[in-house]
Amino acid sequence: MDLKKFQQSFDGEPKYRLNQAQKSLFQDLIKNWQEAIGLPLALREKINKEFPIGIPAEAFTSKDKNTVKTLITLEDGLKVETVLMRHADKRNTICVSSQIGCPMNCSFCATGKMGFKRNLETWEILEQILFFARYLKLTSSEDVNITNVVFMGMGEPFLNYENVMDAIKILNDKNGFNLGARHISISTCGVTEGIEKLADENIQINLAISLHAPDNKTRSKIMPANKNYPIEKILKAVDEYIKKTNRQVMFEYIMLKNVNDSEEHARSLAKLLKKPLYMVNLIAYNPTGIYDPSPASQIKKFKEILEHEGITVTQRHEFGQDIGGACGQLATSPR
Ligand code: SAH
Repeated sequence: MDLKKFQQSFDGEPKYRLNQAQKSLFQDLIKNWQEAIGLPLALREKINKEFPIGIPAEAFTSKDKNTVKTLITLEDGLKVETVLMRHADKRNTICVSSQIGCPMNCSFCATGKMGFKRNLETWEILEQILFFARYLKLTSSEDVNITNVVFMGMGEPFLNYENVMDAIKILNDKNGFNLGARHISISTCGVTEGIEKLADENIQINLAISLHAPDNKTRSKIMPANKNYPIEKILKAVDEYIKKTNRQVMFEYIMLKNVNDSEEHARSLAKLLKKPLYMVNLIAYNPTGIYDPSPASQIKKFKEILEHEGITVTQRHEFGQDIGGACGQLATSPR
């Protein structure tokens, strides 16, 4: 549905009606408007016809049951992938897509290989989260909720800035999903215009940068976007962002064997990122048919070099490789 049109359709109603409807949708998790019994019957019938909220989707569960991938069919027939990760500490993270396909074409990422189809609408972003909110309610006996949303699915969120921010505002709104901004993260391959805009939003969401190399030569080989967004340009925007927000920024670094994982790379990276409020997240490469993942011993060495320089380093836990649901594997073909 068109969320703006939906909201406009309440123009003639008392002010509280829209909030009431949005609460039924995003908090009570109704599956059709007839269930929104707080709304007058005539209104329910009208919006049920004009703004359907059913979500046609398939779901695939990993063997260990910790990862669920869904393939949602959109109104124009295109499909979008979204992943639920159930952490041992009870967090439930949703990895959301912002575009169908991706124009950035990073060499290690399956989404880039399918090309770019189109941006997702605000509602199409929200329904990915709504699908899993309903799913968790249906499949759990206790009260289980979504605790984190990360824009790390298909696409480059900062190339769909307006719709992504509109979706985040509803996620964060007390009449929407009511999810704290600190539980929402955006990952970008370094689109500086987006970093600059986000710095002025006055919202406490988390920013992650897909850096993946300590120098432009290595980075350009694996990320064509480095031509327009080279490392120094990105770091300048990040420094400005930190100055304005005083928030920590996470630099993602995918470990590709013999490409960016040498001790020399680690030392250069340490030099580049030794700054307050910078931190590094090392990501094991999920096979997409091109590279080999760095051996665990190499990742350990790499991490130690960074830590020795006083840099905060975390390692990403991988989910859902067996259902093609891990980072970089989303390409709308269930395996
Ligand atoms: N376009 C955004 C967000 C989507 S990708 C971005 O570039 O940040 C989310 C993260 O997964 C990025 O850090 C991306 O570089 C990483 N990723 C892509 N392919 C991967 C792969 N095959 N294995 C592990 N991580 C991958």
